[in-house]
Amino acid sequence: MNLLIKNVILPDGDKLKTTDIAVTDGIIVKIGCADENFKADEIIEGNNRLAIPAFVNAHTHMYMSALRNAADDLPFMEWLFNGVMPKEDRLNGEQAYWGSLLSCAEMIKRGCATFCDMHLFPGNSAKAAAECGMRAVVSRGLVGSDGGQKRLDDQFAEIEEWKHEKNIKFMLAPHAIYTCDKEYLLKISSEAKRLGLGLNIHLSESKAEFNDCMRDNGCTPTEYVASLGLFENKTLAAHCVQLTENDISLLAKYGVSVASNPKSNLKLGNGIAPIYQLDQAGVNVCIGTDSAASNNSLNMFSELNYMTLLHKGTNYDSTAIPAKKALDFATVNGAKALGFEKLGKIEEGWAADIALLDTDVPQMMPLRNYYAAICYCCDGSETDTLIIDGKVVMKNKELLTIDTERLYYEINKIVDFLDN
Ligand SMILES: [Zn+2]
Repeated sequence: MNLLIKNVILPDGDKLKTTDIAVTDGIIVKIGCADENFKADEIIEGNNRLAIPAFVNAHTHMYMSALRNAADDLPFMEWLFNGVMPKEDRLNGEQAYWGSLLSCAEMIKRGCATFCDMHLFPGNSAKAAAECGMRAVVSRGLVGSDGGQKRLDDQFAEIEEWKHEKNIKFMLAPHAIYTCDKEYLLKISSEAKRLGLGLNIHLSESKAEFNDCMRDNGCTPTEYVASLGLFENKTLAAHCVQLTENDISLLAKYGVSVASNPKSNLKLGNGIAPIYQLDQAGVNVCIGTDSAASNNSLNMFSELNYMTLLHKGTNYDSTAIPAKKALDFATVNGAKALGFEKLGKIEEGWAADIALLDTDVPQMMPLRNYYAAICYCCDGSETDTLIIDGKVVMKNKELLTIDTERLYYEINKIVDFLDN
């Protein structure tokens, strides 16, 4: 399958160039005029379109889009235990599937091709991703102080069911240190080692988590997780807001990837992660939206905007986290954390996950700087076309793999059920 994307705008050093991108079987084979022998099965006209590597959302909870705007402006633990969880308890697998598909629709509309999901309903986000052509790393949020074997067995069954889908991968996900006891954390860690899977964990998200861990274990959450040996697995840690200097050293030493969720952390009153310091220490920083119950949107452009601005402001340094670096966080760093090879750059030999942005809008004019336009000007509505693994999943803002009429009908039914 050959795809030719014509006349798109790409960076050329400090300048911009208009060029073609040729794709064969999901791989970018040529940037520049395509070979005369390249016979395109499909041509995308990219006039006045900026081509960017599609985003990797490194931390989300897909089903929770069904809970959007259900609990807001509450203290963190009240939001979680009284706002979100009672509604979650009433959801079933099919409803979780529709919530996940709603997340897919929103992310595709905003140029995101890949997500890392922590869920409660096995199979549903994998199904949604496979149906609409997204890449996903899926994990069941494991909570427990009872050994939690049933939840682990659910996870193993899900892995077995989806192991042949090449764009669906798995991690094991101990939810957090405050929802898993020590024995369960150790058990999950050893299962991850046995299966060669990475770990996906919420870590040091709130002051309450940090202070409780100091009181109960005499060390920080990051030191606690390190002391249990979890970081001997390839680990993706979400949030990492409350960190000491020693914590940052530990994350760097063990090669832990950090999925920062700036908007969710702000909205839940949890603070601002020391991203500038983590990046300086050599930690692989990536970006997540977290769920639509805490954000309340899954818009990576908005996260990029916050990511760049927050850390300039808090460090009193306008050179901190420049736009080019932030785009790496949102693309290639996320792909690395999730174990996707050669994903997250528009280069020959890399995966053809590409979003095209309409530049014929006021906020994109004049278009002087590629990275500044993406991080400081875009709101995401510019996303016009999305290509994932060489396949067009959105063209001229129309979703090609999702029936939105049916989707919205099903979502409204869920809201009627949950809220009445
Ligand atoms: Zn989360």
